[in-house]
Amino acid sequence: MPAIIAQKEVTQHILRTFNIRANKSLGQNFLISPEVVRLIVEAAEITPDEPVLEIGPGIGTLTQGLALAGAKVTAVELDKRLLPILDKTLEGAGQVQVIHGDILQTDIKALMQGQSFKVAANLPYYITTPIVLKLLEEDLPIERLVTMVQKEVAERMVASPGGKDYGALSIAVQYHAEVSLAFVVPANCFMPAPNVQSAVVVCKKRTQPIVEVVSEKLFFRVVKAAFSQRRKMLSNCLKNMGVDSQFVENWLQTAAIDGKRRAETLSLQEFALLTNSFATLQEAVKK
Ligand code: SAM
Repeated sequence: MPAIIAQKEVTQHILRTFNIRANKSLGQNFLISPEVVRLIVEAAEITPDEPVLEIGPGIGTLTQGLALAGAKVTAVELDKRLLPILDKTLEGAGQVQVIHGDILQTDIKALMQGQSFKVAANLPYYITTPIVLKLLEEDLPIERLVTMVQKEVAERMVASPGGKDYGALSIAVQYHAEVSLAFVVPANCFMPAPNVQSAVVVCKKRTQPIVEVVSEKLFFRVVKAAFSQRRKMLSNCLKNMGVDSQFVENWLQTAAIDGKRRAETLSLQEFALLTNSFATLQEAVKK
């Protein structure tokens, strides 16, 4: 049985042996809590031989937990220095394939050979949002995503309408997935400790988006315009769709939405209504 990497002494020993310092600009905060690794693996609900994509294996901490649970892990790591370490630390851990690359530039469907898979990752925080959006927006056969993110980002991902955390990220994530905050992770569970608290978020990807819209692209354009000035009324913000006040007035009337409201009070269903009314009105104007 290999030593459990998720421990302060073992992590220190590995870094010292390979003469490596954590690279802050790559978001390298290594987990040193075996309990947190256990909880992430549990949240991923791994079944034997199941394909799992891990983003940023680091020195193999979570990878080891996933592999020991029986997962078939494909791990993508950007930092070349960590590859020889992973070779060593994951020796005998189970089914693991480490790929050197940038996850944002990776063709994930090809990498996972078209099979359905899960994602488990302690994400590099400097690119949390683009990674989460790539995983949800690309047409990938993902069953479940379990990701460690900054607590503040986790709160935005799960936020409901009406609060300060609710915004374009909440809508993008909830459009594609059923999302919940599983647990909060204090900074001292990492080495080096980050400046922020963290949280693990579980996303169950929907087979169908939660609302029906004429065009996904238009839906996200409307969301972007509505949140362009958070403190302003919808009737002002929606002009950012490149339309005049008269159009906005008709538009809001058609959708039966009060223009004095702010974007943060609108549900996904109301954004869908706005999207579909916009398309209908534009068609009418063209005729
Ligand atoms: N999984 C390890 C753990 O839990 O201790 C390390 C997690 S650390 C927060 C994030 C990891 O992502 C680092 O190993 C970092 O080098 C890697 N990383 C950063 N940017 C990346 C990218 N664009 N593609 C793939 N990996 C990346």
